[in-house]
Amino acid sequence: MRLVLLGAPGSGKGTQAKKLMGHFSIPEVSTGEILRKAVDDSTPLGNDARSFMEKGELVPDSIVLGLVHARLKQQDCNKGYIIDGFPRNEAQAAALDKMLSAIGAPITAVVSIEVSRDDLIKRMSGRRICKSCGQVYNIHFLPPRKEGTCDSCGGDFFQRNDDKEDTIKKRLDVYEARKASLIEYYGKRGMLKSITGTGPVHEVFRKVCDAVEGA
Ligand code: AMP
Repeated sequence: MRLVLLGAPGSGKGTQAKKLMGHFSIPEVSTGEILRKAVDDSTPLGNDARSFMEKGELVPDSIVLGLVHARLKQQDCNKGYIIDGFPRNEAQAAALDKMLSAIGAPITAVVSIEVSRDDLIKRMSGRRICKSCGQVYNIHFLPPRKEGTCDSCGGDFFQRNDDKEDTIKKRLDVYEARKASLIEYYGKRGMLKSITGTGPVHEVFRKVCDAVEGA
């Protein structure tokens, strides 16, 4: 299965991608995660991407396309993958198709996870991540048993720089401005399945699994 997961920032794409990765034993390719690592490591590419990310803007396609191309060529992607956070615009979608048709391995499913804007803001502003093990919590919806401490490993939490309220709104505006064209792009090709992303994680997961059946 070669799956594209669409959805606004905070829609739960990353959480669902990680569950799918375990279920189908294929890797998750998250452009946000790849870019954040490059920024943390201060690689030349990370340094170029940093200012865009801090403002909640899209990193230029020229940077992101190279990253995705390099990642999809790695051997662990041979059996399939789940792409999360890419494409973010029609040009990226077309470039992905071109990249994959060149190797005769097109995308087999596209699932869009839909969540209302109010819920997205609450989810992102409440998101806290364990510094040690990466476990994701939400102070409103999925709090740890003991405030400020990871249930799994006892680690402390951090909040992503771009999960602050002003940047969140900017990120949602950026996503919404391009969403229609992406939905149309995949809709026209008869590939798109939309599901509601509210409710418990395991229920959303079941809906995603139903949507990708046979892909
Ligand atoms: P995410 O974790 O997917 O919300 O991405 C965090 C940030 O990384 C975004 O706000 C963008 O600045 C950047 N980013 C992630 N994926 C892309 C992409 N496909 N195209 C451009 N910028 C991206």
